Amino acid sequence: CGIVGILGNQSVTPLIMEALRRLEYRGYDSAGIAILDHGLLNRRRAPGKLDNLSKLLLSSPISGNLGIGHTRWATHGAPTENNAHPHMTDRVAVVHNGIIENHVALRKELTELGQVFKSETDSETIVQLVDYYLKQGCAPQEAAFKALKRLEGAYAIAMIFSCDDNLIIGARHGAPLVVGYGDHEMFVGSDSLAIAPLTTKVAYMPDGVWTILTREGADFFDMEGGKVECPIQKTALMS
Ligand code: GLU
Repeated sequence: CGIVGILGNQSVTPLIMEALRRLEYRGYDSAGIAILDHGLLNRRRAPGKLDNLSKLLLSSPISGNLGIGHTRWATHGAPTENNAHPHMTDRVAVVHNGIIENHVALRKELTELGQVFKSETDSETIVQLVDYYLKQGCAPQEAAFKALKRLEGAYAIAMIFSCDDNLIIGARHGAPLVVGYGDHEMFVGSDSLAIAPLTTKVAYMPDGVWTILTREGADFFDMEGGKVECPIQKTALMS
């Protein structure tokens, strides 16, 4: 139960795997990563230990400068490959920690609107909501904001979009999320330990806040869309 996202300047696959290893202590039953490569979202997922995901990536590599990763502690849906995060469509990939309490109502509504669910998780409602708004013509930031406002429950979320190789959207409500600042690189993670080898400059997101990350920096907003100040702090953690 941890998440990580990296906007990098080299292939982020090994960096995301390293960050997931640093989140292993939280416990998990499966893991996965999604990477954007020339406008295509590629994904690898595996139940069990991170080594299973590492082996899969060796035999079937993916690479790109933007990606997200997840260790899952299943709450809704068995710990299978198909229920492992990231969940995605052609347009958006999402990692989520926590529980979406209104997932049954959202799944029903979105299915009636023509969205096709592929997993048994509560988390996939986030992906399908964002995907629906993107199809309606919303820009990624707007689609994410609209989706976040519909969610009830606890979450830390990171999402990436096939149409924008310089964007991660993060959000937290009842689960922690930290933003890290690099040199024309940006990071997001469940805790500062996850990204400790990458940067010591972090911003601890307040609860109920979402963020737009690009390689140029981060902007933070509340759930009304108002700007939130989120100071950069120096962590004492060493790699
Ligand atoms: N509720 C989600 C699931 O079961 C996320 C679990 C987690 O926090 O890892 O897939």
